[in-house]
Amino acid sequence: MARPRRTPACRPSPQITLTTVIDDGRLSRRHALGLLGALGLTATGLAGCSSGSSTTAATSPPTTADDVWAALAAGNERFAAGEPLHPHEDEAYRESLVDGQHPIACVLSCADSRVAPELVFDQGLGDLFTVRSAGEVLDDAVIGSIEYAVEHVAVPLVAVLGHAGCGAVRATVDVVRGGPAPDGAIGALVREIEPAVRAVPTSADDDAYLAACVEAQARGAAAALVAASPIVREAVAAGRTAVVAGVYDLESGRISRL
Ligand SMILES: [Zn+2]
Repeated sequence: MARPRRTPACRPSPQITLTTVIDDGRLSRRHALGLLGALGLTATGLAGCSSGSSTTAATSPPTTADDVWAALAAGNERFAAGEPLHPHEDEAYRESLVDGQHPIACVLSCADSRVAPELVFDQGLGDLFTVRSAGEVLDDAVIGSIEYAVEHVAVPLVAVLGHAGCGAVRATVDVVRGGPAPDGAIGALVREIEPAVRAVPTSADDDAYLAACVEAQARGAAAALVAASPIVREAVAAGRTAVVAGVYDLESGRISRL
């Protein structure tokens, strides 16, 4: 089903240093069109950032997972700058999704209320296949959800998103420093994060230490996802998808890809 297109808006290029955790996959034309729609862009808009018709057909879609990340980074830049487009939230767009979904990416983020992926990437309905767990901890339900996104929804990019000031990582730091284990199933979260925290050299600078642990957990979850899931691993090896990690800064609203 055709997606409604919107008039593109010129935006500056994202100022983010990129290093891929897993090599890039390639985008199908369907995903490329979905990407354009998620941005509110047409191919004409991408090529020249024109202000032409909102219904111009896409002719030169992006072809790599890097292009998807660029779209997400551009959305994050809009969000951080206080200029979000809030795409794909209206009734017509909602109705266009009734027969199926074509998200441009799967995002595994912390469950923290301040890190809602659709908001921080300035995306809308149908744009992101979102999986969330405190500290981006992997379990069978999380991995299975991501596998569904990779195998059946064919997302070309999986992004694992940690964030500054993560309470789950902070709780793990407290345990590693000799504190008591948390009650209930929270202890299971801590046990899953603990290897990443223990791999980070300790520091007297608490903020820097926590930030390093947050990065380690995001990178570790991305790597562990590929290691744990043959479905994801095979999709990466075949170039159908890529797995990357990033960290969201609460204060600036900006996401840095690790
Ligand atoms: Zn968190």
